[in-house]
Amino acid sequence: MSSYSAQVKATRRGFLLKMAFKINKIECCFCRKRISPEEAVSLVLDSILIHHKDLNHSNDEDSNLAFAHRKCHASYHRRIERELFYKGE
Ligand SMILES: [Zn+2]
Ligand SMILES: [Zn+2]
Repeated sequence: MSSYSAQVKATRRGFLLKMAFKINKIECCFCRKRISPEEAVSLVLDSILIHHKDLNHSNDEDSNLAFAHRKCHASYHRRIERELFYKGE
């Protein structure tokens, strides 16, 4: 089981790095701070991740993916969840 998740992680990392170099201009989609490819390579899966703009994690279209700082990403999702929660009340 653990080897499977390690494999998934490795695939994911390779995918993220490919994205990083393909886009070339990488920025956090929330705070708009620029992320260099070198930074992305060393930080990917630690403090930078890929955000799915339509919140559908199986939609891996390039246009649906955006780099984001883990911190910015977390506060975005917290806000979204709160908004959904209050709408439901
Ligand atoms: Zn950010
Ligand atoms: Zn997200």
